[in-house]
Amino acid sequence: MSDKKKLELYIHIPFCERKCAYCDFLSMPATLGVQRGYVETLIDEIIKESAGVRDYEVSSIFIGGGTPSILPGEYILGILQAVGDYFDVGTDAEITIEINPGTLDPHKLECYREGGVNRVSLGLQSADDWELRVLGRIHTYDDFLKSYQQVRQAGFSNVNVDLMSALPGQTLDSWERTLKKVLMLRPEHISAYSLIIEEGTPFFDRYGNGGQAFPPLPDEDTEREMYHVTRSVLESHGYHRYEISNYSRPGCQCRHNLGYWTGVDYLGLGLGAASCVSGFRFKKEENLRAYMEKASQADFPSCLYKEIHKLDQRDRIEEFMFLGLRLTEGVSGAEFLQQFGQNMWNVYGPVIEDMEQKGLLQVEHPRVFLTEKGMDLSNYVMSHFLLD
Ligand code: SF4
Repeated sequence: MSDKKKLELYIHIPFCERKCAYCDFLSMPATLGVQRGYVETLIDEIIKESAGVRDYEVSSIFIGGGTPSILPGEYILGILQAVGDYFDVGTDAEITIEINPGTLDPHKLECYREGGVNRVSLGLQSADDWELRVLGRIHTYDDFLKSYQQVRQAGFSNVNVDLMSALPGQTLDSWERTLKKVLMLRPEHISAYSLIIEEGTPFFDRYGNGGQAFPPLPDEDTEREMYHVTRSVLESHGYHRYEISNYSRPGCQCRHNLGYWTGVDYLGLGLGAASCVSGFRFKKEENLRAYMEKASQADFPSCLYKEIHKLDQRDRIEEFMFLGLRLTEGVSGAEFLQQFGQNMWNVYGPVIEDMEQKGLLQVEHPRVFLTEKGMDLSNYVMSHFLLD
């Protein structure tokens, strides 16, 4: 095993066929010509960024979006070949690509395999075609099934399916049906998030600030129940919840996300991608035209950097707690001491005790983790870990 520091790469593909009604991700429709120009710039960025992280070994790569599978397969292959040529990629690196149903074909899958992709994440969200239409998704459940079969036929043995609850018009029954349909396929991993109404989206116009529209959002009690049903149904089928919204079959946790939650450095490549490397947090240029124009500047890629923030000890401690407590195994006092040279109880003793008394945290020395109730109220719990 290499004794180099670990680095995770996130590669952003900001293109989608059209915008979903709830989406506030950095994504947009684009012509093939724009996509080609973007990938050329991205490859240039990959090559130049690699020089700054020579003392790292890449432990995971995540190609996300947007819809990475909208690109011709050769573009993804070119991106991965550039990464392989210029970064020190570990032989057992986890390499994930996000795929949206309705954008896939067998040739693209061949390109992914050739590029070393060993994990696929399929965005389904719901197995109910009416709910998919309300969300503005481009695909039906049958389109998803076809993509899922293609992925399996291409030999991918590590597959995630993304689901979303608390959708407009969704009932507890329809959510359970979605879970059960997906469970019949036995994916290795399931992510199940609740819909958040984000500002600047068509959904915000309809539902923001308590707004009512048809179909209505489930009420708060139903939403809570959906959350509990998710856990009980998935766990009864052998899926272990290892993070607030993530479930996997044994040994199939997403290593990329686990690394992020446990503080592994990550480098974001592409439009608007976020990084945290060597104690600095920063983002890349978010405007597509500016991103591509900057490629010709002498100081490319550092001219892409925005919102550069040097993390101090306080930031790092808070981040350790916020991210670590998302995991069902929680945080370890021993790791805290090792990373920060301080006893976790000297820093957070009263907070931990208070949360424990409220039944929100459980202490099993040296670990501290959220209880079931604490997971439900995680934002409230986390807010108490902010340092003055
Ligand atoms: S496919 Fe994903 S990234 Fe693209 S518009 Fe829909 S939610 Fe947003």
